[in-house]
Amino acid sequence: MRLVLFDDFQVGVLRGEEVVDVSHLFEDRHAPFPRTFLVRAIARFDALRPKIEAAVAGGRGRPLSACRRLPPLLHPSKVLAAPVNYKKHQAEMSAANTIHELGFFLKAPSSIIGPGDTIRLPFRERRTDHEVELAVVIGREATCVKAADALDCVFAYTILVDVTVRGGEDRSTRKSFDTFTPIGPALVTRDEIPDPQDLRMRLWLNGELKQDASTQDMIEGVAGLIQHASAIMTLLPGDILSTGTPEGVSPLKPGDVVDVEIERVGRMRLNVAAGWD
Ligand code: MN
Repeated sequence: MRLVLFDDFQVGVLRGEEVVDVSHLFEDRHAPFPRTFLVRAIARFDALRPKIEAAVAGGRGRPLSACRRLPPLLHPSKVLAAPVNYKKHQAEMSAANTIHELGFFLKAPSSIIGPGDTIRLPFRERRTDHEVELAVVIGREATCVKAADALDCVFAYTILVDVTVRGGEDRSTRKSFDTFTPIGPALVTRDEIPDPQDLRMRLWLNGELKQDASTQDMIEGVAGLIQHASAIMTLLPGDILSTGTPEGVSPLKPGDVVDVEIERVGRMRLNVAAGWD
């Protein structure tokens, strides 16, 4: 199942190029800010899923192209991410250490944007890079999970672009500017991705292929990352865990168009603009 948010916080399920509106099953979606209704729905999704499936089976679709897309998830309690989790990216960054020595960093959930949105570059004079990554959305509370059980904690997969200012500040500063965490195009539930370690991921900058790798090349796989992260902090439904970028990162400039695709997960386009005007 591919879940999206669109228009006025409608919840949709993708059916090919159409979206079926299932918002009526999310009674609290107009609760006041912050809009955490989808996080709550993820926590009780086992009960919700048959109702959604029935609504999709009998529902009328409308063209996805006629919808205003929103990020498929808002206000997770945290966005956790792995630095240096691909060997060739470690080499291109001349990084001495990997995820095993560095641990995780946090990105501000307020930096989330969605498909078709615009990344705003904060500095004219500093390098800001794209990093395409496979991200996991957690489905259940998870503390000290063993790797063998870790994939049971996954609710869905999505694409995450970990936009990053290069420099000396702490990662959580350099990666948390507003608009620095595009996610989407959908939350693709775990049952649609039999093996998260066998997915081709690509990023094009203005049509030029810049990143092209497989999730096979991760130093620590999804299950190991969940084990490691859940031993540090309890993972909560809706939390996002990003798994690191492969080689091929490069700087963004105003006017750029970024296309990202991960096999079985989807494809989306992002724009880039100056944020200093
Ligand atoms: Mn990254």
